[in-house]
Amino acid sequence: MINLILFGPPGSGKGTQAEHLKEHFQLLHISTGDLLRNEIANGTKLGMEAKQFMDAGQLVPDEVVIGMLGGAVDQSRSMGKRGIIFDGFPRTTAQALALEHLLADKGTAVSVVLSLVVEEEELTQRILKRGLTSGRSDDNDIDTIRRRVQEYRTKTEPVAGFYKDRDLLVEIEGVGAIEQITQALMNAVNAYSSKHSDG
Ligand code: ADP
Repeated sequence: MINLILFGPPGSGKGTQAEHLKEHFQLLHISTGDLLRNEIANGTKLGMEAKQFMDAGQLVPDEVVIGMLGGAVDQSRSMGKRGIIFDGFPRTTAQALALEHLLADKGTAVSVVLSLVVEEEELTQRILKRGLTSGRSDDNDIDTIRRRVQEYRTKTEPVAGFYKDRDLLVEIEGVGAIEQITQALMNAVNAYSSKHSDG
């Protein structure tokens, strides 16, 4: 399988790039943010629990998020996909460890972690702009956006070190033409998936 992780701060372009990569490599796209918003829209218990954290710009507790991903590998296989693209997951070291186990149980592993690098001011501008049309309340409030970036710096950034230690981390400049960034990501995937292929 080809299992990609799109990594980077809120507003770095993970969702946009995931759309291109999933088509090109025939991957199942799993966005934990989308899964959570879906739970909220359906009024589930999980959604109710997650909503308070999301509205405050905080991470949803690990066990809630991890619990949603149990069937991911079976789902991608039954859909005939070549692997999975994880967008917005893992966001903590505990989630990274849970993912490692979940994939190992199914005889597979992370192929590469693509880290989109974008500086802070650009992120805030992009999220506020997205907020004009996304309908997401967490995109409209400057304090909530700052909180999300702060959560990223304290809880998510250490995940980069976890993958660096495993020689799986690639940093890609996330500012520039969308197609050029896509191309840089594809080149990295091709380089790594030949190195770490599990068939
Ligand atoms: P963005 O990348 O712009 O922050 P997402 O849609 O990925 O947008 O996430 C929106 C919110 O959903 C996050 O601020 C967080 O509250 C919650 N969330 C998404 N993924 C996770 C995760 N893996 N762990 C914890 N919380 C998450």
